[in-house]
Amino acid sequence: MAFFVETIDYKRECGSCSECCKGWLTGTIYDYDMSPNYPCHFVDSNKCEGCCTIYEHRPEMCSSYKCEWLTNTLIFPEWLKPEKSKIIITERSIENEETGEEITYLQVVECGQTISPVTLNYMLMLAIKNDLNLEYQIAGQYHYHGSTEFLNAFLVNDEDTEEVVDEKVVKKEKNKNKKVKN
Ligand code: SF4
Ligand code: SF4
Repeated sequence: MAFFVETIDYKRECGSCSECCKGWLTGTIYDYDMSPNYPCHFVDSNKCEGCCTIYEHRPEMCSSYKCEWLTNTLIFPEWLKPEKSKIIITERSIENEETGEEITYLQVVECGQTISPVTLNYMLMLAIKNDLNLEYQIAGQYHYHGSTEFLNAFLVNDEDTEEVVDEKVVKKEKNKNKKVKN
């Protein structure tokens, strides 16, 4: 995914954040499922407010995962840190079934509460100004903004799909918020 400025050389750290271990991103860790309202089995919230009890032996999908706040320091301001903003932003891709090409997009997953209007506005303006594809949740429902190719990749001609007035925005029930990049 192309961004508009070179990254400046400063690093962010997860610190006290553990939102990607709380079930808002899904996954199976050593046979234990993690899903909304069911945090990872290996989070120890009693001792250290969300630390990983198997950190040295955590699976590759955990050690390789980095949210966009952590890596894209110029695009995503400090206030979007997941433990503060209560959203997790992940770069993902979906295959165009006709051409076989990968379409990249940003996925915005809520962390147990409805995305705030300020945060939603920031993400939508970012996507509009930079022609980014965006999959985002509002109160748990997925919505989409982006290119026709991107929307078509998600659009399914069945009764579960509900089109919204804006032709560039469709919403569809689809839970694909896995922690591991797909
Ligand atoms: S959500 Fe991002 S900042 Fe928070 S623990 Fe996961 S990778 Fe780190
Ligand atoms: S195993 Fe993975 S998801 Fe579970 S607490 Fe550790 S880093 Fe988080």
